[in-house]
Amino acid sequence: SIPVQSSKRCAVIGGSGFLGRHLVEKLLGKGYTVSVFDIRQSYELPGVTFHQGDLCDKQALLTALQGVSLVFHCASPAPASDDKALFQRVNIQGTQTVLQACTEAGVQKVVLTSSASVVFEGTDIKDGREDLPYAKKPIDYYTETKIEQEKLVLKACDKEKGLLTVAIRPHGIFGPRDPQLVPILVDTARRGKMKFIIGDGSNLVDFTFVDNVVHGHILAAESLRPESPICGKAYHITNDEPVRF
Ligand code: NAD
Repeated sequence: SIPVQSSKRCAVIGGSGFLGRHLVEKLLGKGYTVSVFDIRQSYELPGVTFHQGDLCDKQALLTALQGVSLVFHCASPAPASDDKALFQRVNIQGTQTVLQACTEAGVQKVVLTSSASVVFEGTDIKDGREDLPYAKKPIDYYTETKIEQEKLVLKACDKEKGLLTVAIRPHGIFGPRDPQLVPILVDTARRGKMKFIIGDGSNLVDFTFVDNVVHGHILAAESLRPESPICGKAYHITNDEPVRF
């Protein structure tokens, strides 16, 4: 039997993570029913069903995606890892598995959390737009797999088949419960390693408040319709002003 799908039933793959949990909380506030799919469960919330599993496991995904019409994919190994095989398995093969599972489960929309680093070649970008090409020499292997992941998701956008996709590209995300960005900066400063300035002190870097990143994801999801110009496209997401770094 085909489960009844409601446009307010969604799944957040990576929903136990920093961004994922903020997304889950906002979705609940907007009246969505949320399934979280993650290799770990880091909290409990009324209105959320947790499915613990690896996104490379299609059967496990299919269970979590029953009756779901909208999927947010914001799971990834930690960028600081040097485990190339893990990035390859999760970000590339795993994303293919997610897309297959979505097709089989009749999911209609997929919103991917990509990264602004997919266009970063190691040289300054100011007011960079989405028509910048993908980096030919990505800064690390994590980014290389984020590029492949984004291409896979955007290519899967197929109005005939009824699967619509879009990607959101944040850069550094900050906000409550941030496990990496601010804690690492503070720790580096405490150890006296921030006394040096690279360049003339006028370098800018794009940090985005987590609520704005979440807002961008939900706007993308809610605007994703067959006639919408956002189908199969990627969007940078940022605050109004970059931060002096
Ligand atoms: P996070 O580490 O807090 O969350 C990622 C979640 O993915 C974790 O809960 C983890 O358990 C889960 N996960 C990892 N491997 C999995 C697997 N095989 N199966 C199922 N779940 C798995 O990271 P985050 O900062 O919330 O990042 C979320 C997304 O945003 C990622 O795609 C990341 O590439 C992207 N991003 C983050 C930043 C940032 O500054 N945090 C910047 C740009 C892009």
